[in-house]
Amino acid sequence: MTKKQSLLVFSIGPVQSFIAAARKLEDLWSGSYVLSYLAESGIKRLFHLGDEQGLSVEMVYPAETRETLQDKWHEDHVDIASIPNRFVAIVGGNQIKTAEMARNIAETVKGEMKRLCVEAIALVFPEGVNRERMNQVADEQVEKALELFWATEELSDLQQFESARAQLEKRLAAAKNNRQYSAFCQTGLICTVCSQRDALCDEEFAENETIGQMTAKLRTTWEKRNKSLKQYTRGEPGEGRIKAGEYLCAICLGKRVSREFFRKEKNVDGNTFNRFESTIDLAGKKSYYAVMAMDGDNMGAWFSGEKKFPGVEQSDSQLDSYREVSRRLGFFAKRVVPSAVKKYDGQLIYAGGDDILAMVPLSGVFALAQELRQAFSDPEKGLGEQATASMGIVIAHQKSPLYNTLDWARAMEGVAKQYVHTESKKEKDAFSLAYLARSGEIRYVTLPWVFVTEGGKRSMVSCVQELVQELGRNMSSTFIYSFGRAFMPLLGTNDYSRKLNIFEKDQEKNEGLLRMELERLLARAEKQSDQKIDVSRMADCLTSIHRAVASTLQFIHFMEITRNVGGILYGSRVNAAG
Ligand SMILES: [Zn+2]
Repeated sequence: MTKKQSLLVFSIGPVQSFIAAARKLEDLWSGSYVLSYLAESGIKRLFHLGDEQGLSVEMVYPAETRETLQDKWHEDHVDIASIPNRFVAIVGGNQIKTAEMARNIAETVKGEMKRLCVEAIALVFPEGVNRERMNQVADEQVEKALELFWATEELSDLQQFESARAQLEKRLAAAKNNRQYSAFCQTGLICTVCSQRDALCDEEFAENETIGQMTAKLRTTWEKRNKSLKQYTRGEPGEGRIKAGEYLCAICLGKRVSREFFRKEKNVDGNTFNRFESTIDLAGKKSYYAVMAMDGDNMGAWFSGEKKFPGVEQSDSQLDSYREVSRRLGFFAKRVVPSAVKKYDGQLIYAGGDDILAMVPLSGVFALAQELRQAFSDPEKGLGEQATASMGIVIAHQKSPLYNTLDWARAMEGVAKQYVHTESKKEKDAFSLAYLARSGEIRYVTLPWVFVTEGGKRSMVSCVQELVQELGRNMSSTFIYSFGRAFMPLLGTNDYSRKLNIFEKDQEKNEGLLRMELERLLARAEKQSDQKIDVSRMADCLTSIHRAVASTLQFIHFMEITRNVGGILYGSRVNAAG
């Protein structure tokens, strides 16, 4: 008789509502970190159950072992969310046993979340507040909020890994479709962060109470929060980690003060879990910062073994290639990405495999984007030479609402995935860059990472960097204004799909015209500036970029973005629109 083995997939959510509701950088980080922590607790529990029952457990994604979960080097990046919210394992037991383990893991995960909320309540509210009542609410809210799904599939033969895994994914999708939506029964006033669950209150509400009376009870409850949370050390009164007028549910509260919990859990000192400043600190003197969301392209094909690593000794077992992808992504996410983000004074929100969210001061955005993208294709650091990735980059003012900036970053990542390379017709492998001006104006453009100029292939990011400097230092915004005025009438207004097309199908002639006009305007700009401009090089660069973008309007937006970013970074702020 062959030994029974099963595949297990376990997923922890809801990701969006854990992260998207962020009003503060601290909430954003902790939402991601809590998910990562819960996944880690689940994996540890699985190993523990395996040991207890004498069953083998192998994590195939993420590539964690009992040892890596305890690793010492990890301490450096201990506050980074690096465990993806779903994991896949091979368990040396039949499906029934494996399903039992999954149920047990679910209880552990819920228990950890409850513990986090209860500790938060104890930290925030002093004795004398009815914490018992709050703990009970926390219990109910965690039960309803966490979405834990799992599926198992028998794996009779390791050679059948890929088909078993496909089946497993189908089962998981079915389980998610059949979920019971437990409507939150709201009896009080809702949380000011998530707007979903009741805010915690230490008094009962009577049935006939008015909103005014209920609000008064809430206010009284939250007035009792400990003094250290009311005000930052050097901050204004009422501007602390929990602001005056903020009333949180158990889960949002658990997230808001989770760093204390994690410091204790991870047994680290007070300097760790401390660096999540506000967007204002992050932006620094320039007042603008960037959010970047990166995602590997065609990951399904990598995991299934359809895409292979050239030059790597590889058995044809699909399980082996799955393991290899896991291992490489783990290394990339846990080691390469955190160091890169740190180098540019950024804040890494999460790095789960190929999925990255980071924030960085404006001065480092292009260099970091370039470094991450290159590392992903570096077999020593990332997935491999054939691997590509798409990225959304959003440049925003420090005071623009965080959730809006995040929405844009994700949307831009999606737009980048839609990119079709104008010459090769290949898809993806691009980045979309958006600029959210303080005035509310939005400009965006999608560009390939590599493009072709007269001098050969060039990195788009380094070219953008160069233009940002040139346009920021040397050129008044009249350059772009004149260009827009010359070409917009030929395009029709707000057309995101059309390219300059004066000479019908003759692309070369159209480009010649564009280049001539660019050279004329650049030469004029040079006369007005006191610095030398390499007119020919810039015109070549810009013409090639025009060829790479989807429309002339996007090209104009591109120039406006580089001009504005250049103005913020290198020029006088007066010239920077918005
Ligand atoms: Zn809430």
